[in-house]
Amino acid sequence: MPLDRKSAPNDLRAFWMPFTANRQFKSAPRMLVAAKDMHYTTSDGRQILDGTAGLWCCNAGHCRPKITEAVQAQVAEMDYAPAFQMGHPLAFELANRIVDIAPDGIEHVFYCNSGSEAVDTALKIALAYHRARGDSARTRLIGRERGYHGVGFGGISVGGIVNNRRFFGSLLTGVDHLPHTHLPENAFTKGQPEHGANLADELERIIALHGAETIAAVIVEPMAGSTGVLLPPKGYLKRLREITQKHGILLIFDEVITGFGRLGSPFAAQHFDVIPDMITCAKGLTNGVIPMGAVLTTAQIHDAFMQGPEHVIELFHGYTYSGNPVACAAGLATLDTYAEDGLLTRAADLETYWQEALHGLKGLPHVVDIRNMGLIGAVELAPMEGQPGKRAFDVFVKAFEAGIMIRITGDIIAMSPPLIISKEQIDELVGTLAEVLRQAG
Ligand code: PMP
Repeated sequence: MPLDRKSAPNDLRAFWMPFTANRQFKSAPRMLVAAKDMHYTTSDGRQILDGTAGLWCCNAGHCRPKITEAVQAQVAEMDYAPAFQMGHPLAFELANRIVDIAPDGIEHVFYCNSGSEAVDTALKIALAYHRARGDSARTRLIGRERGYHGVGFGGISVGGIVNNRRFFGSLLTGVDHLPHTHLPENAFTKGQPEHGANLADELERIIALHGAETIAAVIVEPMAGSTGVLLPPKGYLKRLREITQKHGILLIFDEVITGFGRLGSPFAAQHFDVIPDMITCAKGLTNGVIPMGAVLTTAQIHDAFMQGPEHVIELFHGYTYSGNPVACAAGLATLDTYAEDGLLTRAADLETYWQEALHGLKGLPHVVDIRNMGLIGAVELAPMEGQPGKRAFDVFVKAFEAGIMIRITGDIIAMSPPLIISKEQIDELVGTLAEVLRQAG
């Protein structure tokens, strides 16, 4: 019997869904069966306008022929190649192509399969880098409150989301957190907020507490996406860079969301003109089509490992699927598509239109803040008395019924549409959300 891919399955019990209210979902499933460009199709045949690029990953929109054809061709040509002590051309070509669009000074690419793996890889490289230089006392890691760095043990340790940490034991030791940068006085700021650059100075306090010689790395999202689009205050990232540089501490930008054009340049590092020592990326690297992540590093980090006898492995780390040929084919076709359609800078062209559309929601019931940059934005709602997250959840369900896909985190609605969105589709997305907010009010 051929698989039925177009209608809702009858038995939903076996699949334990990730980051999902399983019981609620299974009582009223939202089932997607097809996707094309800006739209999903549901099992009951409805078109849903994608306001979130899937999960912040399908930057070129869905089922782009160039990417799907490249994947199909590669699966038929060479489905898999061992990742260790063996190579294949696409992995080298893709690494060069990533470096071509990466910030100046970023010269090497280490592959993995997801954002979480990229984060844990970057943290391990940071620790091993210092050790390779004889600086083995540098073992402490610093993250930030409200940071999301995936779900590996490293990522949740440096991450700053209570629910992602508190059920899972004692986590990594030797981790501190900077304060988050989300200040009430910045509410309804368009673009980067004015207040809060001084929060970077908290790093000096943490350094004074432990001694710089014990600290390996600081990891932050240049713009925190998953906790509700929290933008860096003006000057904040530059200050972090100055302090880390002064003390020989590595700075890692987690660009799993901001990488590949979300803010109007290939990486947020270029947008903010702050170059970190490492960048983690995933999602948009393959347009979400095949799982893939990567850690991008400077030559200084890479070269610190290239010592010792030549036959000895330099970094004892890697994954069975690092640089998987099918993922590489998807990555190359994705970068071609971004280049052909000018997508790595398109968010900059649409930013003002997007901003004005979003800020037009000000004054609607329960809206307490609106934030935006590039093609990402958030609308924050006042929580319902005694039921945090419920108001936004209801809006999310109603929005899906009304034909748009949005994302929620707590009582914050986040949107990050594919970078191919038209102005008319921005109007449709924001207009539909406005209608849902009015009705929910
Ligand atoms: N880091 C950041 C900044 C992210 O936004 C995400 C995913 N939203 C991750 C890491 C984890 O990526 P993945 O889900 O691919 O493991």
